[in-house]
Amino acid sequence: MPAFDFLSVSADIKSMYLIAHITKKMNYYSLNKQAPNVSFKQAVVQALAPDRGLYFPENISPLKKTFFDQIEHFSNTEIAFEAIKQFVGSDIPENTLRSIIEETLSFDFPVIALDDHISTLELFHGPTLAFKDVGARFMARCLAYFNQDHNKEVTVLVATSGDTGAAVASGFIGLSGVKVVILYPSGKVSDIQEKQLTTLGQNISALEVKGTFDDCQAMVKTAFLDPELQNQMQLSSANSINVARWLPQMFYFMFAYKQINKKFSDIVFSVPSGNFGNICAGMMAQQLGLPIRRFVASNNKNNVVTKYLLTQLYQPKPSIQTISNAMDVGNPSNFIRIQEMYKNDFGRLKENLSSYSFSDDETRSAMLEMYKQYNYVADPHGAVGYLGCKAHLNKYPEDHCVFLETAHPAKFLTIVEDSIHEKVSIPSNILMLMDKEKKATKMVSYEDLKAYLLQM
Ligand SMILES: *Cc1c(COP(=O)(O)O)cnc(C)c1O
Repeated sequence: MPAFDFLSVSADIKSMYLIAHITKKMNYYSLNKQAPNVSFKQAVVQALAPDRGLYFPENISPLKKTFFDQIEHFSNTEIAFEAIKQFVGSDIPENTLRSIIEETLSFDFPVIALDDHISTLELFHGPTLAFKDVGARFMARCLAYFNQDHNKEVTVLVATSGDTGAAVASGFIGLSGVKVVILYPSGKVSDIQEKQLTTLGQNISALEVKGTFDDCQAMVKTAFLDPELQNQMQLSSANSINVARWLPQMFYFMFAYKQINKKFSDIVFSVPSGNFGNICAGMMAQQLGLPIRRFVASNNKNNVVTKYLLTQLYQPKPSIQTISNAMDVGNPSNFIRIQEMYKNDFGRLKENLSSYSFSDDETRSAMLEMYKQYNYVADPHGAVGYLGCKAHLNKYPEDHCVFLETAHPAKFLTIVEDSIHEKVSIPSNILMLMDKEKKATKMVSYEDLKAYLLQM
């Protein structure tokens, strides 16, 4: 092929060059293999296959190497478009998909080098100050598009331990044809998170459940299996089992690569992991050809994957409460997608994925160390990611490890301030929230939820 000058052609022509081979429909199959294949649209609307399996794309076509070599000449919108286009297929017209992406990505994703071997990728510059904003905003806009000429409303159910509900509430506010019902455990989310969930109104309802996050999740699952509800309404989920929430997280790894690939080589990502949606999306980006040396799954003491990589035994456990609470997951729902990507080949997976687990004390010390050594204030989740980088660099000192800073430190104010012995400044949009009135409906049992949904 003759040399192709990327810099002198328009965005549209760049896209045509890169994706000319993929304008067809993308099919998704259920990982339980007992349900029919569906298109992107159905996978998004249903969230989970009828056999309760997670959907997975039927094929993954790598992008051209030139795209990654020249990535710094592409805008974030163009990069995201190239990454996600094949997974959406013909279900959304290209121009609409571009607008959806542009609206989704209306904030920054900066990489900050702490030294020559460690950087942080800050994913908390969106409206709710945690990384889940991108997936939630993308999914909301896809659903709105699919629902534009339907009379049947979609009711999106979300169980949250804090950040997911906030991101989904903010992402879905004001969307016509979509109602959002958020279940959160009473007294177990931070004040800021509760305000983010309960003060929006409009098409967003918050249900305050007497119980734990696991209880909320169980109520959502029961609703999905309830034939009476299924007859009455189209239920969907906005947890990371939904492909429209999961796949846009690929963008982060590409945006980071764009910023540092000319400065550093042998790039590794350390991803603070709970349900393993984010790291699984990073591994998808690598399948598309993103030149990443290895992934590190950084865990708190909820370490089923760390143990699996040591012993080859996958043993889910009830979750343990930690200071990095968004990662308190005892049975990560997306790990099965990683297994599928590697065709259950343990040896190949281990070549590309390491995992380490850290205690709350180690996490607090890491926050203090980063503050003293680099004058950087991290939240507890980012701190677990930082510890993962340090563990990796112990073995591979020449690599450059980027840890994902998944939440703004102000979201975990007391823990951070107690760890670094300094005050943390609170962003203005959060301060404004604190004066707003909380509106939530209390519930105790599944029957309460069902009655609530049927009268909506
Ligand atoms: C959700 C969340 C995580 C974990 O992400 P997964 O995709 O579930 O692995 C990590 N940090 C924060 C702040 C989160 O909100």
